[in-house]
Amino acid sequence: MAGRMEPPTATLPAHVDVLIVGAGISGISAAYHLQTRCPGRSYLILEARDAIGGTWDLFRYPGVRSDSDMHTLGFSFQPWTGEKAIADGAAIRDYVQETARVHGIDRRIRFGTRVTSAAWSGDTARWRVEGVGPDGAFSLTASFIDLCAGYYDHDHGHAPPFAGADSFSGRIVHPQQWPADLDHRGRRVVVIGSGATAVTLVPALAAQAAHVTMLQRSPSYVVAMPAVDAVGAKLRRWLPARAAYALIRAKNVAVGLATFTLARRWPDRVARHIVARAQQAIGSAHDAGIHFTPRYRPWDQRLCLSPDGDLFAALRDGRASIVTDTIDRFVPEGIRLASGGTIPADLIVTATGLSVKMAGGITFAVDGRPIGLAGRLLYRGMMFEGVPNLIHTFGYTNASWTLKADLTAVYLCRLLQRMQRTRTRSVVPINDDPTLTIQPFLSFTSGYIARNADELPVQGSRTPWRLHQNYLRDVLVLRHSSLRSAAKDGLRFIR
Ligand SMILES: Cc1cc2nc3c(=O)[nH]c(=O)nc-3n(C[C@H](O)[C@H](O)[C@H](O)COP(=O)(O)OP(=O)(O)OC[C@H]3O[C@@H](n4cnc5c(N)ncnc54)[C@H](O)[C@@H]3O)c2cc1C
Repeated sequence: MAGRMEPPTATLPAHVDVLIVGAGISGISAAYHLQTRCPGRSYLILEARDAIGGTWDLFRYPGVRSDSDMHTLGFSFQPWTGEKAIADGAAIRDYVQETARVHGIDRRIRFGTRVTSAAWSGDTARWRVEGVGPDGAFSLTASFIDLCAGYYDHDHGHAPPFAGADSFSGRIVHPQQWPADLDHRGRRVVVIGSGATAVTLVPALAAQAAHVTMLQRSPSYVVAMPAVDAVGAKLRRWLPARAAYALIRAKNVAVGLATFTLARRWPDRVARHIVARAQQAIGSAHDAGIHFTPRYRPWDQRLCLSPDGDLFAALRDGRASIVTDTIDRFVPEGIRLASGGTIPADLIVTATGLSVKMAGGITFAVDGRPIGLAGRLLYRGMMFEGVPNLIHTFGYTNASWTLKADLTAVYLCRLLQRMQRTRTRSVVPINDDPTLTIQPFLSFTSGYIARNADELPVQGSRTPWRLHQNYLRDVLVLRHSSLRSAAKDGLRFIR
């Protein structure tokens, strides 16, 4: 477990109204909304790591940064005041930790505590939650669980085996476990991968390495974006921080939605535009038709951002190069390609992606029956069919994660408020529409989604079981729609 011990750590009560699992962006957002909107409810955050921040505390590879803008990746209630819109991992970690401190959330977190199982009893309308903490095994009860445990395995990244890996004479590292002592200065580095991590790592390593080769099996769309938002910088000079933040956030939501909509409506035109811009940026050093033209349409997978075109600059200057080919095997001096030829290397970085892990690896039971969340229908992308008093925070794949995390937290508070008003103890989504057809949870073709489709929940063909991935629509539904009509539309409130 990386990170420093965050003082102080909360004590374990015998019972809590809302148990939040995870102290990343989603957990801190949930805690803020709970203590603001439902001050009468007790809550506790259990966090397996020894620090706040989740993703932003875990990842330490050179150059680690956001790949969406901080005005939408930031919390709605805590202005991001950093200079850069595309920010470094350490700055994001500091921001999440500072937000928790400012709002007194850090005192409500118990660190080094992993939840392993949760069993619901309809008789008591409570979850019995078990796990392991610094003092060994523990158990407590909770009326509601808010899963803010992210979507991937924090312990291991996806590491496919490569033939001959043992024979390589240099070092092989995965970005998720970047060794603090690793010195890449003056080394010949090969980064395997074409996703956001590879696109981040290549220019960052190229600043000091002898040379960096990005080796990809198939290309991604890469789009250059200014690291500093010029309009935002002006607004920040003229307006108070909170007002400027709200305006920049609204602008970026609108721009994000518009570009996503354009890309879905005119995929070929948008693809041609992205590839032409990439070619312009790399000059004659490489052929964008080969290295930056994916087989999929824009937004079938997340677009990769290159702040200030740093990847293109590294390729143009010859500090880095890009190879689109298949690996035959690792050899002592580097990587042999299927097409022949060997890329010499002293260091190989396997930016081969994440390993999906749903619900923090927790096992669930309802009234004595073990239940799986994989393949289970999701209500509004956040509650599992047939499972009472459980909410699951899963951000957008086509916009910043936090936009949906904030809305999910608000929806949870609205449910709790309604339960108090109606004196009901539990709420459970039930589908009684036999004509509803089942679809994959995400229409993304990204490797980590495709590899792990069987572990994910599913969505339905119609609202409220359909995942719309549309922030404005979700604002209307999750913040403002009547919960009385939700009660007729799949949600059952039970006394
Ligand atoms: C390198 C990288 C860059 C990214 N960049 C962006 C970006 O620019 N924009 C964007 O929108 N998204 C991005 N993402 C997605 C990113 O994960 C989300 O933005 C966001 O940080 C997720 O926050 P979270 O709190 O939901 O989950 P996480 O950050 O994954 O935090 C989950 C927390 O739950 C804890 N936990 C898990 N299971 C348990 C358990 N059983 N018991 C106790 N604690 C548990 C974990 O220890 C962790 O601290 C990125 C992801 C990665 C890996």
